[in-house]
Amino acid sequence: MPIDATQPYDDNNIFARILRGELPSKTVYDDEFALAFHDINPQAPLHILVIPKGAYVSWDDFSARASDAEIAGFVRAVGQVARDAGLVVPGYRLLANTGLDSHQEVPHLHVHIFAGKKLGPMLAR
Ligand code: 5GP
Repeated sequence: MPIDATQPYDDNNIFARILRGELPSKTVYDDEFALAFHDINPQAPLHILVIPKGAYVSWDDFSARASDAEIAGFVRAVGQVARDAGLVVPGYRLLANTGLDSHQEVPHLHVHIFAGKKLGPMLAR
């Protein structure tokens, strides 16, 4: 079910549980501000999710409430994950589904990194 990007933060969402170590993940990056791990149901040869460590429901919530340090740390982490994976030259796509029309399903901000093939048109037609 898609979520409303303005709903209150749910401490028991799946990514909160991954952050607390209650659920496993295939982690590729971990620092003060961000955690990155492989998507459980990859939509491209490489599909990584990057999430902030703080409790933010969506891009809307994060961009409005996060501190400058959290925002800088998170954005730098997304870039670092892509560099570490060797994606800068072949290229990659970032996506942050936000709310109902985008079909955001997990109510903790996540940026998708898709890579590993020609990714085609930006949106389904
Ligand atoms: P959304 O549709 O909210 O933008 O994307 C949610 C993503 O989270 C989906 O691509 C889905 O496969 C992924 N996902 C859902 N549950 C889990 C999980 O338990 N572990 C991991 N690694 N990914 C998950």
